[in-house]
Amino acid sequence: MASKLFEAKKLCAFYGSTQVLFDVDFSIHTGKITTILGANGAGKTTTLRALCQTVRTTGSITLNAGARDVQLVGESTDAIVRMGVAHVPDGRGTFTALSVEDNLKLGAYVRSDKAEVARDMDKAYSRFPRLAERRHQQAGTLSGGEQQMLAISRALMLRPKLLLLDEPSFGLAPLIVAEIFRIMRQINAEDGVSMLLVEQNASLALGLAHHAYLLETGYVALSGPAEQIKSDESVRRAYLGY
Ligand code: ATP
Repeated sequence: MASKLFEAKKLCAFYGSTQVLFDVDFSIHTGKITTILGANGAGKTTTLRALCQTVRTTGSITLNAGARDVQLVGESTDAIVRMGVAHVPDGRGTFTALSVEDNLKLGAYVRSDKAEVARDMDKAYSRFPRLAERRHQQAGTLSGGEQQMLAISRALMLRPKLLLLDEPSFGLAPLIVAEIFRIMRQINAEDGVSMLLVEQNASLALGLAHHAYLLETGYVALSGPAEQIKSDESVRRAYLGY
């Protein structure tokens, strides 16, 4: 059994005085893909924001960092990035005025191992040859699919312990989505990168993830191995709508 990398307990999140997460508990295991599913407004994006501490949060999120545990609630977002949490936000979060290459370089801004950074950049280009062909192109002029590939590659340049992905399938054609999900699986299997994937497309996410949580209006309605949830017809009908 893989060890717990992150553990959230009684996590609550607020926008001003409005509470949108209510005592959410979840764990992310080392080397595994965890998915958070739910309808519009369930609190999926907010859960990722809570991990990065870009939303007001109470409760606890513990990073199991080897010899010691680190509490993320109350930490700065910059410190959390330096601990190895990379975020691919909804809307992708590339720097549209910069070239593909400069976006990748920015993704490695906290690293000083230049040779390894260059190696990781080559790896990004070999994973996504479309990015290699467009390395000097302005990111804002890329197609939606290419921007998603760049956003994922930029986040990986951190060599993250955890990759947070917010609806990577959003607005993309099925063939591009299939390619991106195939490569996400490869990144997890080959490099052991742990992922927390937020998706509205439950079928797609359950096909990739090891473990799933279902959020309903800020509460965890159910959780379990992705395979089990996928094969439970009543759960699928009641909660996932397919
Ligand atoms: P979607 O799939 O539509 O993106 P979601 O599950 O990711 O939904 P969140 O974006 O986390 O849901 O939103 C949860 C709740 O918090 C919603 O009711 C939303 O209106 C509210 N909310 C989100 N962002 C803000 C904000 N910046 N200010 C105020 N309320 C917000």
